[in-house]
Amino acid sequence: MHISLETLRNSPGQTYFYEFIREAAAFDLTEDGACFDRPVEVRLEAVFRDGKFHVFGSMLTDLISECSRCLQPFTLRLEGQWEDDLPAEEVQDLDVIRLARELYYAALPLKPLCAEVCKGLCSVCGADRNHENCGCDLEQMHDKLSVLKKLLLE
Ligand SMILES: [Zn+2]
Ligand SMILES: [Zn+2]
Repeated sequence: MHISLETLRNSPGQTYFYEFIREAAAFDLTEDGACFDRPVEVRLEAVFRDGKFHVFGSMLTDLISECSRCLQPFTLRLEGQWEDDLPAEEVQDLDVIRLARELYYAALPLKPLCAEVCKGLCSVCGADRNHENCGCDLEQMHDKLSVLKKLLLE
């Protein structure tokens, strides 16, 4: 999946659009076992101007992920954008797979969250605190622990 820049070089000032909507495997994105919920969409916009290729690229897909707080599966939207000026003498073509991979891995969160406000699991009884109020008093437990600590230290 390469875009030859020869055509652009021959028509300065004209913007070209490219769209690739393929399964993740086509972009070499399946090696770590991620579960894709839709194809990967890569779009590129490129123009040759003043001796440079001005390129704008974007990537979008959805993964079925697991929330790092409540451990529930959810759909994780991954999006990325990239924009650059490439000196004409240094590039012959655009490597779409490489671009897709770079945007994908940059967008992948270390700790996926089903929602910013996800309350996670109760550290006392393990209940999903988004769905039930188990009644465990986390603060009280901390208080008890600090009282205990004080007693031990005295
Ligand atoms: Zn969650
Ligand atoms: Zn609880």
